[in-house]
Amino acid sequence: MEKVDLDWGNIGYGYIRTDYNYISYWKDGQWDDGKLITENTVTISIGSTALHYGQECFEGLKAQTAKDGRVLLFRPDQNAKRMQDSARGILMAEVPEEKFVKACIQLVKANLRWVPPYGTGASLYIRPFLFGHGDNLGVKAASEYIFCIFCSPVGPYFKGGLTPVFFNVSEYDRAAPRGTGGIKVGGNYAASLKPKKLANAAGYADCIYLDPATRIYIEEVGAANFFGITRDNTFVTPKSSSILPSITRRSLMEIAEQYLGMKVEERAVRIDELDNFVEAGACGTAAIITPIGGIFYDNKLHTFYGEGKEVGPVVKGLHDTLTAIQRGEHKAPKGWLVEVK
Ligand SMILES: *Cc1c(COP(=O)(O)O)cnc(C)c1O
Repeated sequence: MEKVDLDWGNIGYGYIRTDYNYISYWKDGQWDDGKLITENTVTISIGSTALHYGQECFEGLKAQTAKDGRVLLFRPDQNAKRMQDSARGILMAEVPEEKFVKACIQLVKANLRWVPPYGTGASLYIRPFLFGHGDNLGVKAASEYIFCIFCSPVGPYFKGGLTPVFFNVSEYDRAAPRGTGGIKVGGNYAASLKPKKLANAAGYADCIYLDPATRIYIEEVGAANFFGITRDNTFVTPKSSSILPSITRRSLMEIAEQYLGMKVEERAVRIDELDNFVEAGACGTAAIITPIGGIFYDNKLHTFYGEGKEVGPVVKGLHDTLTAIQRGEHKAPKGWLVEVK
């Protein structure tokens, strides 16, 4: 398989158009078979509920090339299940798990020349999404749905690889306590654009969101989950129904406990206990694990390992183990890797 001519080691996190996209239509209670298309556009009704009322959800996962040339997807079944949760949450037609996984495989296979080669640090980001369309006016669930997938080769999300990045604490809330924070629906991210821009303007990579009800507890780090490492080597990560349940985080909790012999705690994490953590990180498919150098809170910069200048050994160990698993180089729990054949 001849690869496209890209400077694989230096691609950023922007959209690069590939050869094929996937599309499937739901109408009158059922999905069609779905197909690959070469266009990167969709035509929808001007009354689409996605355009007016945000009836849309998405997923994100990655394909990587292993040393032996195999192309591996990381836990696509978990993305399929989470997209079903999102669909149920905003009354959309659900995509069956098997259809979702097969479509991801079909798409990656068709775009193999865009899958970054082994050892480049880049991967193929896969973006499945689902939204309501059809003629409509009032606020209600759509009568038709489209399930699409596109993909793009990507480098690291936060530039600089395992270089620590800094965050401040947003004055804004991401999601309401009993709202849609726990599902991956578009509206949550529209609400995050302004807080992120303000954080960037103040010199931070992104912002930390606190729990909207009390503003005492940490919820998210931008569009990633938070974790901290205590002095006694415990992996601590927030618990809240308005946090998006990250598959990366869930995987790290298993890796920490089963492979690295750490204690794991999922519990409410107060923003004022930051100084109890010797290391901290942001995790997600895009961020993988990004070390947090420090968090500006209560008029102070609270730094972690090496005064925020270096990645700590525990965050590095978690990162290296997770990425080795994703490349098929470290033993993994059963079912975590799906080969594109
Ligand atoms: C997608 C997402 C994450 C990360 O989830 P992964 O399954 O690990 O990719 C974390 N927080 C938010 C708000 C997200 O949208």
